[in-house]
Amino acid sequence: MAALPQEHARTLPFKVVLINPYELGRQPFALAAPAALLKREGHAVSCIDLSLQTLDPAVLEGADVVGIYVGMHTATRIALEALPRIKALAPNAHICVYGLYAPMNEALLRRLGVGTVLGGEIEPALLALCARLREGRPACAGQTNQIEPVVSLGKVEFEVPDRSGLPKLSSYAHLVLPDETTRIVGFAEGSRGCKHLCRHCPVVPVYQGKFRVVPVDVVMEDIRQQVKEGATHISFGDPDFFNGPTHGLRLARALHEPFPGVTFDATIKVQHIIDHAELLPELKRCGCLFITSAVESVDDDILRILDKNHQGLDFDRAVALTRDAGIALAPTFVAFTPWTTLEGYIALLRRLMELQLVGSVPPVQLTIRLLVPEGSYLLQLPGFREQIKAFDSAVLGYPWDHADARVDRLQQTITAWVARSESDGIVRREVFAGIWRMAHEAVGRAAPELAENLGAPIPRLSEPWYCCAEPTEQQLRSF
Ligand code: SF4
Repeated sequence: MAALPQEHARTLPFKVVLINPYELGRQPFALAAPAALLKREGHAVSCIDLSLQTLDPAVLEGADVVGIYVGMHTATRIALEALPRIKALAPNAHICVYGLYAPMNEALLRRLGVGTVLGGEIEPALLALCARLREGRPACAGQTNQIEPVVSLGKVEFEVPDRSGLPKLSSYAHLVLPDETTRIVGFAEGSRGCKHLCRHCPVVPVYQGKFRVVPVDVVMEDIRQQVKEGATHISFGDPDFFNGPTHGLRLARALHEPFPGVTFDATIKVQHIIDHAELLPELKRCGCLFITSAVESVDDDILRILDKNHQGLDFDRAVALTRDAGIALAPTFVAFTPWTTLEGYIALLRRLMELQLVGSVPPVQLTIRLLVPEGSYLLQLPGFREQIKAFDSAVLGYPWDHADARVDRLQQTITAWVARSESDGIVRREVFAGIWRMAHEAVGRAAPELAENLGAPIPRLSEPWYCCAEPTEQQLRSF
């Protein structure tokens, strides 16, 4: 673990410590953005990124407010483990937990002594909370009532994120090119929220079909400071880069004009790839190397249940369109759901082979099990609650067993295989071959020969994309 920088001003009157448990190996925008605003208001702000640092007692000592960012399931699990130690190191601090997973876990967080829970466009609420506490006014109305709204979707005033208190960009996830050379990656957000309502998506309960754009000049200033730090690739973290296609295109052009050698990647849903296919060549011209797309399934029934707004064959179309434009597609999946059948899982593997996408899919994607957090729109599906167990605060979700026990067994076997193969450095073709064989064994037949060409590797980030994986023991103990 790197030592935490000690340069933060101790003399300023009000001390705010922002903590990021985990963010997919990205330098956390969600710390840098509020840090800029809080500093502008005169607060002394320190940042701790638990993915690279430990909880330094010297940094937490005397903190007035500790803000913990929970943007994804894995981060929330780590945050809950770290909370007792944070409270011990900063016993007088008001604890605020913010981010997508905060409102949906509000009741649990309150039980654990969290004073303020914020989701959505959190910056104005965080500023108001700190201003009030600095003036000696209470955090809550009465004993417990939080004054700031738990979810805010109002427009916020954007400031260029202040990344100075975070570990160096070069310590975070890198871009890995097919020839295994690497590049330093910067991370930017051109929009927040999403206009879609996919039932399993954690963005939906908070943003409820709304999205907000970040002004291009603010995004570009943020990119500029990261390019200065050595970034030659920008990963856009927008939930969907084409929620506002004109804005997305403006950003791509604004990036390419001053930095023609800097490449980028973005996340775009299948439906948007098809609907805005005419924009793909321009994205390519501006340096787009790959598009991550939450395909989730190739089964039309499952796609309908998830309300994904695309069908299985649309995946093939998205692959063809991105290939025509010279952009790689990195599909992501929810491979195991209560509706996944063994034959359906084999069909997914076969489709990846036919589309020559095996080199584009990190094996961990083929192990992902549907997570049902509190507030999930899946809970509104008629009859769904009867299919799942009671909420389990240890795993922050509603566990479920598949009606066909063989499916659950297969998921466990494949998860163990992928974990082992990653630690042993087994090449992707062999990992896929193992998954292919295990899936066929589960239905009691021999696996057919794999195709010769499974697809070449594509550019990727050194930390694979997933937001709902179980944290590792190391992550849970490393603070
Ligand atoms: S899965 Fe993607 S498109 Fe669907 S609601 Fe979530 S962010 Fe939006």
